[in-house]
Amino acid sequence: MAVEYALILIKPDGVKKSLTGNVLTKLSQSGFHIIGSKVVKVSRELASQHYQHLKGKPFFEGVIDYIQGKTFGGAPYDRVFAFVYKGENAISKLREIVGATNPENAEPTTIRGSYGRISKDGTMENVVHCSSDINDAKREIQLWFSPNELTEDVYPTKKETVTEEKQVWA
Ligand code: ADP
Repeated sequence: MAVEYALILIKPDGVKKSLTGNVLTKLSQSGFHIIGSKVVKVSRELASQHYQHLKGKPFFEGVIDYIQGKTFGGAPYDRVFAFVYKGENAISKLREIVGATNPENAEPTTIRGSYGRISKDGTMENVVHCSSDINDAKREIQLWFSPNELTEDVYPTKKETVTEEKQVWA
């Protein structure tokens, strides 16, 4: 048994259907700990980096519109809730609770089986994302979170001096 980390996203259909509480309750059955969480407005760049493995697929543009919430008319559904979970064999256990990609094939008691659907244009609106293996988890956690947004150093970090313009409270 190895400790693993996984990125979970509650996608815009989950946000629109007010499923955040239900999803978190189901995921809490795992007994795993959340070591990072935030709400993120999803840019096209972030969406296409996240789904880089789907580039060239006929449903790619639909999936990008979906994760950006464009399918649901944009704001206030242009965002996702992002979490990093930590636990023993976290990825396979969380994916079991999440269910199969196609909500119609997902076990009825899983998150996707309970709340997912296939849209008219064929996009699988399956409410949540969960990393599929440890390499994906590393890539995705590093894409969505910076080290100081997590309660522990999940991956090696380094110090860098950066000068950047930054929004602060007026
Ligand atoms: P998963 O999210 O289960 O890891 P993938 O990475 O293969 O699956 O796909 C990413 C997302 O793209 C899925 O969660 C789903 O929303 C959508 N998707 C995947 N395959 C299809 C498909 N064949 N048709 C429509 N949408 C799809």
